[in-house]
Amino acid sequence: NLFSESNLSPDILKAIGELGYEAPTEIQKQTIPFILTDIRDLIALAQTGTGKTAAFSLPILDMIDPTSRKIQFLVLCPTRELCLQITKDIKSYSKYIKGLKTTAVYGGSSIMEQIRSLKDKPQIIVGTPGRVIDLINRKALDFSEISWLVLDEADEMLSMGFKDDLETILSETPETKQTFLFSATMSKEVERISKNYLTKPHRISV
Ligand code: AMP
Repeated sequence: NLFSESNLSPDILKAIGELGYEAPTEIQKQTIPFILTDIRDLIALAQTGTGKTAAFSLPILDMIDPTSRKIQFLVLCPTRELCLQITKDIKSYSKYIKGLKTTAVYGGSSIMEQIRSLKDKPQIIVGTPGRVIDLINRKALDFSEISWLVLDEADEMLSMGFKDDLETILSETPETKQTFLFSATMSKEVERISKNYLTKPHRISV
């Protein structure tokens, strides 16, 4: 298995081995070593289907502290479907990491139930912007100590009108975090948000 050269922990290698992943995809070859070793922000131009979910989540799962009950990792994405898919993927990649919990928060579903599931103290939140803001306003979510933020399908989030929501959420996160922006296209709006919220990002494209 060609992932064994990637320095990922045995817990993660076991999980992806069971999923039948034999070798990293092109984007994974670029992001996994970068995220594991670099402290810079990242802009990755990549389409769906390239393996981008594993590209950002595997290295972060390797570094996250499952013994802390604080939210360390936030993934923002445009739709409920994508939110559920990313959550399912992260849960399968982390199934052998004891104590690690991931919660999905998205619109069109009971907010009370999501508030209840947040009482489990997940370290990872995958959410759509509108619902995330709702939960911040209700004091059910606190991102003041996250280490990693992923903006997935940033172009889609911006074209769906989530710009103000994204800016509000970003203002609730610490300066010390590392931000990884994934987008299929580099629109003017994506450039603008990158310029305002990412620091000297490293750029990759596949
Ligand atoms: P994504 O681009 O994240 O939507 O991933 C597309 C599909 O590729 C998903 O079904 C993943 O489970 C699968 N996948 C991701 N990485 C790999 C890999 N290294 N080997 C085989 N399949 C993969």
